[in-house]
Amino acid sequence: MGKPKQRGGCLSMRKPDPEELISRAREAAGNSYSPYSLFPVGAALVCPDGIVITGANVENRSYGLACCAERSAIFAAVSQGKREFQAIAVCCPKSDVPVSPCGACRQVLGEFCPPDMPVYFAGKGSDYITASVGELLPHDSLHNLKKA
Ligand SMILES: [Zn+2]
Repeated sequence: MGKPKQRGGCLSMRKPDPEELISRAREAAGNSYSPYSLFPVGAALVCPDGIVITGANVENRSYGLACCAERSAIFAAVSQGKREFQAIAVCCPKSDVPVSPCGACRQVLGEFCPPDMPVYFAGKGSDYITASVGELLPHDSLHNLKKA
C-alpha cells in the first residue's frame, strides 16, 4: 500500500443524485486503507448545503480497530460541524453484489440521520440498492434521545 492519491473530499452537490453520489463513493474507495481485507470501501455523504463529504474504510493490524467508510464519512462530517445529512452512498468496488452497511454503521447512521434518509449501496457494477435509514435500523425507538 503506497501513498493514496487524493480523491473525494468536500465537493459540492446541488441535489443528491444517487448515481453521482455512488460515483463519489466509488472514487473515495481509492483512499481506502485495507491491507488486511483487501476490500476497499468508499462512502459519500451529502449535507443540506450541498457539500459532499467522503470517507473510506481504514483498517489496523489490531483488526477490531478498523473503521468502515460510512462511519469515517460521518465522523469527518460531524468533526467539521455538520449535523444534518440528506443521503449517503456506499460503494465496494471489488464486490460482485451491492454490500449494505454493517450493524455498527447502521447505528451511527441512526444517530445522525433521519429514518427516511436514503442510503444507496453498490458493488462493482452499475446496479445499486436503495434503503432508508429506518429500514436498515428498524424499531429505533430511542432515535430522539439526544437532549441538545
Ligand atoms: Zn460498517
